[in-house]
Amino acid sequence: MKTYPSVLLAANRDTSIPMALAALIALVVFLIDALTPLDIAIAVLYVVVVLLVASTNNRAVTVAATWGCVALTLLGFVMSHEGGYLNGAAARCLVSLVAIGTTSVLSLRNQAAATTLQEQIQLLNLAHDAIVVHDMNDRITFWNHGAEALYGWTAQQALGQSIHQLTQTSFPVSPEDIKDELLRTNRWHGELQRVRRDGRVVAVSTRAALWRDATGTPRAVLATNNDITRRKEMEARVQRQQEELRSTIDAIPGMVWSSSGDGTLTFINRRWTDMGVTLEEGGSGADVWSAIVHPADLPQMQSAWRSAIATGASFENVSRIRTGTGAYRWMHLGAEPLRDEAGAILRWYGVNTDIEDRKQAEQALERSEAFLADTQRLSRTGSIATHFPDASMWWSDESYRIFEYSREVVPTFDAILARTHPADVATVRGAFEQAKVGAALVDVKYRLAMPDGSVKYVHYVAHLTRPQSGGTEYVGALMDITETTLAQEALARSSAELAHVTRITMLGELAASIAHEVTQPIAAVVACGGAALRWLNRPTPELDEATRSVTQIVRDAKRAGEIIQRIRAMAKKRDSVPAPVALNAIITESAELMRREFEWHAVEVQWDLDEPSPEACCDRVELQQVLINLLMNSVQAMADVSGPRKLRIATGMFDPGHALVSVRDSGTGISEDNADRMFSTFFTTKSEGMGMGLSICRSIVEAHGGRIWAESPATGGALLQFILPIDDGRCHEQ
Ligand code: ADP
Repeated sequence: MKTYPSVLLAANRDTSIPMALAALIALVVFLIDALTPLDIAIAVLYVVVVLLVASTNNRAVTVAATWGCVALTLLGFVMSHEGGYLNGAAARCLVSLVAIGTTSVLSLRNQAAATTLQEQIQLLNLAHDAIVVHDMNDRITFWNHGAEALYGWTAQQALGQSIHQLTQTSFPVSPEDIKDELLRTNRWHGELQRVRRDGRVVAVSTRAALWRDATGTPRAVLATNNDITRRKEMEARVQRQQEELRSTIDAIPGMVWSSSGDGTLTFINRRWTDMGVTLEEGGSGADVWSAIVHPADLPQMQSAWRSAIATGASFENVSRIRTGTGAYRWMHLGAEPLRDEAGAILRWYGVNTDIEDRKQAEQALERSEAFLADTQRLSRTGSIATHFPDASMWWSDESYRIFEYSREVVPTFDAILARTHPADVATVRGAFEQAKVGAALVDVKYRLAMPDGSVKYVHYVAHLTRPQSGGTEYVGALMDITETTLAQEALARSSAELAHVTRITMLGELAASIAHEVTQPIAAVVACGGAALRWLNRPTPELDEATRSVTQIVRDAKRAGEIIQRIRAMAKKRDSVPAPVALNAIITESAELMRREFEWHAVEVQWDLDEPSPEACCDRVELQQVLINLLMNSVQAMADVSGPRKLRIATGMFDPGHALVSVRDSGTGISEDNADRMFSTFFTTKSEGMGMGLSICRSIVEAHGGRIWAESPATGGALLQFILPIDDGRCHEQ
């Protein structure tokens, strides 16, 4: 029968006491055996000495003690039976020797077994694990070095104590349950929390085994304990990190996902669930895509995904994804593969980024670019950006079209110069130099000489900007104004023609007046000629009278000549020639042509001319046309009026820079409606009117930098006024 190894309790026992006791017993036994006449086998008590010495586990001492006891037995026998060897005494001596020998042999064998056990225990001590044996009352019976290191108590301190009290064990389940399992299965495995001697809490992984004796009675529990505190801390840290990672992934403003190597979704972050998508949707991860990708985008998305899975290349796609509200939003889908060492794809990690706003902005940009391109084409306006100091350029498509360059041509200033009309090269260079020195605005009109010999008129306006990238930049518009320029020229030509025609018409209207003006001096010439002849034909010629008549003839002929000259000037087709003109003189001249009209219509002319006469810079014939037009209109407006017909003609200064001419009549006046419209072309209230007069007056006045307007004074009639810039000495320079 194997017994519980009590030696485990006595690993380091003190040997001095049993030795001393053994020596004392041996001495007492010897004295009694040798010196007393007792006929008993007292020497058998040497067995106790042998047992005591053997209990020290020292083989050599045990052997020596055995032989010592044998020697003392024999010595005692000899000393006590010197007289004769009795059979009984010899037999007792022999029994004692046999008892000592047998005890010694058994003790030595026991010692050998104990030594083996001790060695095995030493082996247990070598183990890193903490090995603890405790009996069924939790009392510690073995405590190896590992346990000393783990818990801090030495074996001596721990042995005999309750393991759970000593280490303040905290159980994950109730201790009874653990005991039950041990009794049922002879095993228990779990994690416990204990407090070390230094007060530090340690987590231990425990494997306990129940030891039963031969009768099956539970006798002890052997437990190996591993310190898993660090592992637990690491696990907690990993757990924390995983939670943080998870929170981070959930916080990413995108739909993060991962899939297996074959493309089946295995993980989605919170963005997906916020949008109402779960991995269960559609049954399997692979079907989630068909549930959320817009049907119109699904085929190309799936084909891109399949090709990425097949080739292992990065996955990139842009598709509309259904959101929680059911609305679709544009998203960029991207994924990268994770490979093992052999290069096989283990997993895909992907993220869908919401690019709805960007997409909207792109579409808006595309639209506005298309609008801009259309607008540029329609308005024949290109864009040119020039960056300084390197003078690098960017031209829009329309700019290329205007310059008639192909898109391959690098936009440079030299390329612009190559197309510039030779006569305008200096102008263009000048504008470029201005830009180089940082002028706020560049505004230049010039001509382009195209390779086919045609000429284009362009207008370039650019503003200085300071881009964040540094340097300066001119952002400008280049407008093809060929058609406008040609149209303006044609218009100017037709306006001149029209003005000429209306002048002729006006002269026609004045024909009677003019004829009267001319015939009057001619009649006077004839009369004076007759008178002169009569003075000369007298017997005594009256030379003084004749001279007076001839002088009169000369004066009247001159006047007729002048009138004809003025009419010729008005009838002549000519270009506008601005010159300093004294307004008072031109007004009186014009009124002169109208004199007959005034007389016929009984118009009383009042003069209010400023002295000295204001001088304006204008074309005198055109100004005369304006004046005659105003005077004619006044005469016509007063023709239907029965009351006094008064015409007041005045000059003066409007402001320091402008001279004012006003013509006021007492005619029908101007209704409020007509005040605005009367300067429009073809507006007339007369049955035979053309409606051109005032419109031509306005273009003439405005072409000279002036302004013309009409008022209807409260006292009745009409007041027409115009202003012209006064001649500041620069008239000839123009
Ligand atoms: P037309 O003389 O051929 O009608 P105008 O352009 O000279 O053309 O004049 C346009 C119109 O302006 C006239 O028909 C008339 O109704 C109005 N108007 C011009 N001058 C006067 C004025 N002094 N008094 C009243 N109405 C006038």
